[in-house]
Amino acid sequence: MGSIAFERLSKTYPGGFAALSDLSLDIADGELLVVVGPSGCGKSTLLRLIAGLDRPTAGSIRIGGTDVNALAPAERNVAMVFQDYALYPNMTVRGNLEFPLKMRRIGRAERRRRIEQVAGMLELMPLLDRRPAQLSGGQRQRVAMGRALVRDPSVFLLDEPLANLDARLRAQVRADIAELQRRTGTTMIYVTHDQVEAMTLGQRIAVLAGGRLQQAASPRELYAHPANTFVAGFIGNPPMNLLPVRIGRSGETVLPDFGGVPLPGRADAPKDAAIAGIRPEAVRLAETSSEGIAVRVREVEYLGHETLLHFTHEAGAASLIARLPGLPPFGRGDAVRLGMAPEDWHFFDRSGQALG
Ligand code: ATP
Repeated sequence: MGSIAFERLSKTYPGGFAALSDLSLDIADGELLVVVGPSGCGKSTLLRLIAGLDRPTAGSIRIGGTDVNALAPAERNVAMVFQDYALYPNMTVRGNLEFPLKMRRIGRAERRRRIEQVAGMLELMPLLDRRPAQLSGGQRQRVAMGRALVRDPSVFLLDEPLANLDARLRAQVRADIAELQRRTGTTMIYVTHDQVEAMTLGQRIAVLAGGRLQQAASPRELYAHPANTFVAGFIGNPPMNLLPVRIGRSGETVLPDFGGVPLPGRADAPKDAAIAGIRPEAVRLAETSSEGIAVRVREVEYLGHETLLHFTHEAGAASLIARLPGLPPFGRGDAVRLGMAPEDWHFFDRSGQALG
């Protein structure tokens, strides 16, 4: 059983730095959880606590229902692949895969069976007699994964395992990892700072910032209903546009404020809203000259299939990003009108928590 439960888990390093604070989360047996967050948010710390390389300051970790706080790393049946996975350069691929099994005094026949099973799964059979220097980056990465998998761990931890690969290879190995996880059904925690990687891989994503869990949800849920302004800004590229709000003339409506100009809000906007957010793809060109608001194009980023447009308000410093298909027919400095549908706004309170 590879279920994992964190209960009020905290880690404060000597010197007083709180790398993780009060983290509670359950991960089901066989689940692939992606942990994402900016550099220094505590991702590696969390993996080190699960693997037993470090001790929590408070709280508990249960693996398969057993509290592992008192167990040494070797007793946890957890395998970890790091960003700078080092293969043994003088050993062949077979030797690298065999090493952890020899360390565990597993017999020759069983070693052979496990190596062939994992090598078959990772398409390493033709490479078994090569040394690491004779492999591509992606092949080496697969050997590192294989070396962790031959142990048949109940939990598999991956710490930015694709960071050293180029973009094309990264996409391919990412798909391989997702498929491998589905086939083996091993509980996997995959750490990355890359939100695109998180979105494409995760059945569920846990967003960490400053050592605190911000939200744990499916990619769709995180995108459609971010729990706070941090998640709204972190998931999605470019991030959600965030604007202050003002109270409408009637005193009852809450309106997003774009550099002093009220934008059409939502009649049912929560009264305690302090921040309004809208996704770049929900900002569109107005259909008539009387609709929407007048803005100026500040920057045009043409990406081929779409264009990111940065707009500023005629009068002020406020800016908005829109994502439009293809190449819209205007350039820097042009005046255009933007429209937004009231139902596309998200609202947050003063502390940044989502409302409604
Ligand atoms: P990255 O994506 O850059 O690897 P991360 O999210 O994995 O970052 P951690 O390595 O978990 O971050 O570190 C979390 C915080 O704890 C960082 O601010 C780091 O400086 C601090 N930290 C890590 N190890 C120690 C330590 N041994 N002593 C003191 N502070 C530490």
